Amino acid sequence: MEQRYEPETDPSSIVGQDLSDDTYAGAVSPPIFQTSIFSHDTVSDMRAALSREARGLLYTRGNNPTIRTVERKIAALEHAEDARLFASGVAAMAGAVMAHVSRGDHVVCVSGAYGWTRHLFETYLARFDVAVTMVDGAVTDEIRSAIRSTTTVIVLESPTSMRFEVQDLEPVAAMARARGITTIIDNTWATPLFQNPLDWGIDIVVHSVSKYLAGHSDVVAGCIAGRAATIDRIFTTELIAMGAVTTPMQAWLILRGLRTLPVRVHQHQRNTREVVAALKDHPAVAAVNYPTDPDGPQYRRACKYLSGGTGLFSFRLKDRRARAIESFVDALTVARIAVSWGGYESLVFPAIAKVPPTSAELDDATALIRIHVGLEDPAALIADLKRAAGALTRPGSSPDAPRA
Ligand code: PLP
Repeated sequence: MEQRYEPETDPSSIVGQDLSDDTYAGAVSPPIFQTSIFSHDTVSDMRAALSREARGLLYTRGNNPTIRTVERKIAALEHAEDARLFASGVAAMAGAVMAHVSRGDHVVCVSGAYGWTRHLFETYLARFDVAVTMVDGAVTDEIRSAIRSTTTVIVLESPTSMRFEVQDLEPVAAMARARGITTIIDNTWATPLFQNPLDWGIDIVVHSVSKYLAGHSDVVAGCIAGRAATIDRIFTTELIAMGAVTTPMQAWLILRGLRTLPVRVHQHQRNTREVVAALKDHPAVAAVNYPTDPDGPQYRRACKYLSGGTGLFSFRLKDRRARAIESFVDALTVARIAVSWGGYESLVFPAIAKVPPTSAELDDATALIRIHVGLEDPAALIADLKRAAGALTRPGSSPDAPRA
């Protein structure tokens, strides 16, 4: 007899159960529930579904089985009771923060956090009289002394994604808990394979799923993970009410990405170690920031929290002139010039791309060049970087000279 998918009579039980493969006629890849609505047999069933919109199948701006499957997998990976997907990492961070601030509140945020996270506080929430103090997250005392009686949230990102500062999660979580402050961390760089912040007492983990979790540079999505009550509250207000939901198709692509997450991140790690070692040895390179580099200043703290390192790091050339950096980056052919990271391809993003062209010597932050080491043969990327760096150090190869 032909097998077919039989919907459960109680929609909440579908949402609650792990949607195993054998539920779908033995399909090894779960189906995409490409539907915006779910129908009901009777008005009474519909009334029941409406009364528990947060749990049941009613409308895909709330629950959808494909999306819920991904959420449950991310929750398991992050040792969380529950997780929810958002339309982007930025939407996930905004949802987690907005659920915990009101007019007059104060937030502490690490200054190295992703640009749009800082923008949320410095520009957007300022309009609603929510104050922010930006701190050097690497210095726990700076976080402690920034706390006020009105502080409701501490936002971490560890490591940060340009300077790669590692924060001491355990004492920060403890001091926040003691004061009833919610801690939120962007865990995108480490992925749940290499760091589980909830285990250290952090309240909410946020990911830009667009990076390693989806892993193929073809999805924009975000997620939050934490205690069920917290995630539920954010889901029913910030997520459903503001509507920054993802789609079943996106969720399915994430599901596919998650299946190879361990293989991919371990290969990113292997490749990156080789590229970092090559750059550290190069005479044109002044410094490399890779949190899990045993020679790096943050290695001890990194070892406490990170069981591995992924593919993103930054470095500085000895030559700090903007034109030297620009010609170095322009000369790369394997690494493509682009924002974001976490996919197959190697990418390069120089901080000078964010500032108008200048002839001044650059400061440490603006001189940074960020590399995402992809899954290609690292030898090709290393040769590419060495060729571009070698051109800078060759006599008579000043970037100020006109290009042939
Ligand atoms: N967090 C980090 C560390 C990021 O680099 C990004 C980058 O895009 C984001 C969050 C935002 O995520 P999304 O692009 O998915 O909105």
